[in-house]
Amino acid sequence: MTGPKLEQRIEPEEELALPNVLTTRLDLALNWFRKSSVWYLLFATACCGIELMQTGGPRTDLDRFGAVFRSSPRQSDLLIVAGTITYKMADRVRLIYNQMPQPKYVIAMGSCANCGGLFTPSYSVVNGVDKIIPVDFYLPGCPPRPEALNEALIKVQEKIQGEPWFKKIKVAR
Ligand code: SF4
Repeated sequence: MTGPKLEQRIEPEEELALPNVLTTRLDLALNWFRKSSVWYLLFATACCGIELMQTGGPRTDLDRFGAVFRSSPRQSDLLIVAGTITYKMADRVRLIYNQMPQPKYVIAMGSCANCGGLFTPSYSVVNGVDKIIPVDFYLPGCPPRPEALNEALIKVQEKIQGEPWFKKIKVAR
């Protein structure tokens, strides 16, 4: 009768390739969780908001990316500024942004949010939401199509996946 071979060695390659074990970097895993659950604020100020609603509808369906809307800025990762921002609203937009937890992201959706759009000459319209809060992505168009907003969300996800999450700190001006 022969006993177990005590001198049998596990080769280094075998040690690394243990079955049913997955190894990854903490940053990579956290970012994957975060990018797969981008919650955006239910917020719109003008006609671009209709396109935002359509983007959440069945044809474009943001839900399949893990992106769902929240009614409170305190539970939102993403602010999609959909529409014209007047000076009267500017303080409210800044307040909403400041109420969002870090890390947070902003998409300026449409010409009005980007630069004032066709209301640029108006005395009451802010010529770009980046005068109030930091913007991550600018989405051109009047209005941008739902497919374009879908693409912008994918860009946000790519940004999230590539950044060290604990280093992202932004302060509203
Ligand atoms: S960019 Fe065009 S569609 Fe969007 S809010 Fe301005 S005027 Fe309306």
